[in-house]
Amino acid sequence: MTEREKIYIFDKWIAEAGAIAISSHTHPDGDAVGSACALAEYLRKRGKTVSVVLPDPVPGNLLFALDEAVSSAIFSDLQTCRRLIGEADMLISIDYNRADRAAGLEEAITVSKARKVLIDHHLNPDSENYGLVFSTPQISSSCEMLYRVLMGMPDIEGDAGKLGLKTASLLMLGMTTDTNNFANSTYPSTFEMAGKLIAVGVDRQALLNGLYNSYRENRLRLMGTFLKDKLKITGYGLAYAIFTAEELLGAGIEEGETEGFVNLPLAIASVRMSIFIKEEGQTFRVSLRSRQGVSANRCAKLYFHGGGHENASGGRLDIPRDAASAVEAAGYVEKCCAEFFRNEELWRTQE
Ligand code: 5GP
Ligand code: MN
Repeated sequence: MTEREKIYIFDKWIAEAGAIAISSHTHPDGDAVGSACALAEYLRKRGKTVSVVLPDPVPGNLLFALDEAVSSAIFSDLQTCRRLIGEADMLISIDYNRADRAAGLEEAITVSKARKVLIDHHLNPDSENYGLVFSTPQISSSCEMLYRVLMGMPDIEGDAGKLGLKTASLLMLGMTTDTNNFANSTYPSTFEMAGKLIAVGVDRQALLNGLYNSYRENRLRLMGTFLKDKLKITGYGLAYAIFTAEELLGAGIEEGETEGFVNLPLAIASVRMSIFIKEEGQTFRVSLRSRQGVSANRCAKLYFHGGGHENASGGRLDIPRDAASAVEAAGYVEKCCAEFFRNEELWRTQE
């Protein structure tokens, strides 16, 4: 089916839908929140009853972008989310590739008999379980994927002005965070989209201030500790750091305040992959970023129970299964990554 034909069907399904539930992934980021809320806003303008169901709350650093009307339709209490999914006759999964990435909502989504649509940009979409799939890894973000779909809708007719400023700003938000402000995964279409959205009034400066210039001092202080004391760099070009919950608590760090740390070590010419690990609840969350030619995705899949994109992935470390304790986590990371670099024929030591 061509994209045009799929958009035609999507439009028809929307017209026929009663209640619509839009879900996104665990620990939602800017692209997850931006795309889900942008779509909800568009559907609301079409007179639809829409809820956004997220397995975890919206992180505090994104709240600036959501007004009361948008936030009041977001739910993250799992029981309410499951009920809303059960009541919906149309489910839209956005910014994740398979139901198990929305931990706690997986079963509700899987058993639902509603029409199901997937809008995403991760590798390996679970196409079999969705009636309609808009997904390609050759795009910056789910916000850009959604932008493309919306621009093809009969009521928008390729005119970004018809999206409305709220939808347009939310699309810009998610594209900006997923590209790390135009640093990664940008395509000609990404800049085109940005140009169009700015032309219709999106305030990029306000967005950048909200996203990157509104942190608490604690974050920058911890960034100092991370770079000075915590960061380990191996001879073959792996940079990694591990923070325990106790260390984060001691530094007064809240959810979302280490966002982006994982990217910093890639500023060093010899670093080819960066891994940032932090203890959160029962697990150690792992973030991986790599240069072109090194697959963060494969490393995440093989050693950290995760996946994502080729050069930006995530996963977790199971204590005590992978490493007996937090203290031994560093040994696990070094052992696995050395094996990974060898097996991928990336092994070389730097003089
Ligand atoms: P982050 O490091 O920012 O948490 O995640 C980077 C990318 O990897 C995101 O696109 C995210 O969706 C994906 N990702 C994060 N954690 C996981 C995971 O546990 N499993 C999979 N499959 N993907 C993940
Ligand atoms: Mn994304």
